[in-house]
Amino acid sequence: MADFVESAKNFVNSAVSRTSWEAQKQLRVRGKQGEIDKLMDQRHQLLDELAQIAMTQYQQGTLSDPQLSRVCAGIMELDHDVKNREVQLQDIKKEAFTPEQPVPVTDYSPPPFTPPSSSAASKPPAGPGYQGQIICPTCGNSVRANSLYCRSCGARLR
Ligand SMILES: [Zn+2]
Repeated sequence: MADFVESAKNFVNSAVSRTSWEAQKQLRVRGKQGEIDKLMDQRHQLLDELAQIAMTQYQQGTLSDPQLSRVCAGIMELDHDVKNREVQLQDIKKEAFTPEQPVPVTDYSPPPFTPPSSSAASKPPAGPGYQGQIICPTCGNSVRANSLYCRSCGARLR
C-alpha cells in the first residue's frame, strides 16, 4: 500500500513538473517566434528600401543593371495598368441605369501577366497580324502596344 501511495505521489510530481516544463517551452517558443517576426519585419523594410532605391535610379536613368531595369520596367508598367483600371473602375461606378440603352460590352478581364524574361523562347509571336503588340526599337522584343516601358530591356516606349 505504501508503495502505491509513493508511486502515486511520484506520478503527481512528475505531472506537475511536466506541466511547468511544457509552459516554459511554450514561452521559449513564443519568444523565439517573436524574434524571428521582428527580424523578418526588418528584412521587409530593407527590401522595400532596396526596391525604392532601384526604382528611383531607374526613373532617373542611372540604373545600369539590365536585370534590375527589366524588373523596374515591369513594376512601372503594372503601376500604369493599375492606374488605367482605377479610372475604368470609377467610370463603371459612375454609370447610371438607362433602360433604353444597352449595357456597354467591354472586356474587363485583366491581361495575362508575363513575368519579365530575356529569353527569346518566351517571346510572344511578333510580326504583321499579331494584334496589340509592337516591337521595342531598343531591343527588338515585342511588347504590348499600350506599354509605357519595354518589359525586356526597360526602355521607355513613348
Ligand atoms: Zn526593349
